[in-house]
Amino acid sequence: MMRGLIVFTALLVAVLARETFEGHQVLRIVPKNGVQLSLLRNLEEMMEFELDVWKGATRLSSPVDVRVPPHTMQAFKSFLETNEFEYSIMIEDIKAILDAERKQMEFAARLGQPRNTDSFDYANYHTLSEIYSFQDMLVAENPDFVSKIVIGQSYEGRPLNVLKFSTGGSNRPAIWIDTGIHAREWITQASGLWFAKKIVTDYGKDPAITAILNNMDIFLEIATNPDGYYFTHVSNRMWRKTRKPNPGYSCPGVDPNRNWDAGFGLGGSSGYPCSETYRGPSPHSESEVRSIVEFVQSHGNIKAFISIHAYSQMLLYPYGYTTASAKDEAELYALAQKAVNSLTSMYGTRYTYGNIIDTIYQASGGTVDWTYNQGIKYSYTYELRDTGYYGFLLPPNQIIPTAQETWSSLMVLMDHAYKNPY
Ligand SMILES: [Zn+2]
Repeated sequence: MMRGLIVFTALLVAVLARETFEGHQVLRIVPKNGVQLSLLRNLEEMMEFELDVWKGATRLSSPVDVRVPPHTMQAFKSFLETNEFEYSIMIEDIKAILDAERKQMEFAARLGQPRNTDSFDYANYHTLSEIYSFQDMLVAENPDFVSKIVIGQSYEGRPLNVLKFSTGGSNRPAIWIDTGIHAREWITQASGLWFAKKIVTDYGKDPAITAILNNMDIFLEIATNPDGYYFTHVSNRMWRKTRKPNPGYSCPGVDPNRNWDAGFGLGGSSGYPCSETYRGPSPHSESEVRSIVEFVQSHGNIKAFISIHAYSQMLLYPYGYTTASAKDEAELYALAQKAVNSLTSMYGTRYTYGNIIDTIYQASGGTVDWTYNQGIKYSYTYELRDTGYYGFLLPPNQIIPTAQETWSSLMVLMDHAYKNPY
């Protein structure tokens, strides 16, 4: 009985306590030959090291970033040395960065909640409830222009809110943008908040966005994986997946960017529920994914679909599950180039671009492969800043510059979709 109580208490503490990541480091490993490259491709299967792969293996000389917990550090480093890997310490002390991030959020929270979207703190990260109140404030301030559509519910019952920016008409051709489908990629949700404010600020002033919005609607889903995002704040900052339990396993969650019905189950996704790239039991099994699928299909007139991730500084288009070229490859490539040039012109941030499978690696069941196969020609996915200095822990002073440069490239994509109807 006593023993049961102790076990129960220990479990409860484990559930409630926030993971501090004390002693965790992120190592950066550069594959120098084919043998090393194929070893790195299998890092996730080396369960004994309990690694969290931040940036997977792509090609020779392209770095791989992994978070290593303290209790396997020694063993993992000897594995690297035995196999003559070149590696460096990318993040020496994750806990220190997390403490600084949290401190800045708590400091901002003490100043009180903003009363309107003008006084909202765009240069900081925000909790899920702050995102929800931001959305309601923006709608209340712009009742003729912005509305909130609830496209479904997350597994834990949270609303899946989409902001609709529309100047009228019915079922106009539309642009979709989502951020935060992977919970820990905080720079994406933060950029989404900034985009929303940018749209209402620039409409009627900037001729390009005004022309787009006089002819098209924009849909923006900021907290696309709200359960995961909530969990990154209260329990585990490094959470990526959804939060639905996997029957028979202690690890919950599905990778919502492997769950789409496009090459589902092919290479570049995992069938193992504890993997960070677990595809789920069946296509669209996750309500966070299924709600978008149903929305896209019932809308029927979406012309551009842009799904935003971090990190690596990339602008990508289909396909991820097959080496076959998308039939619009030439146009998608030229447009990506133009968008990236615009992005780089702002702060000099360098991006790579191309189709997913050649630019990074095979990834199946991804969002934009599905949207492209639905006939949405301008299907793109971003990997925002950086290229592996802070990784998922981008300091808040980079939020606004990241959002600004990304927006300038989004304008190129949206303007092209507007001027090239199909
Ligand atoms: Zn992602």
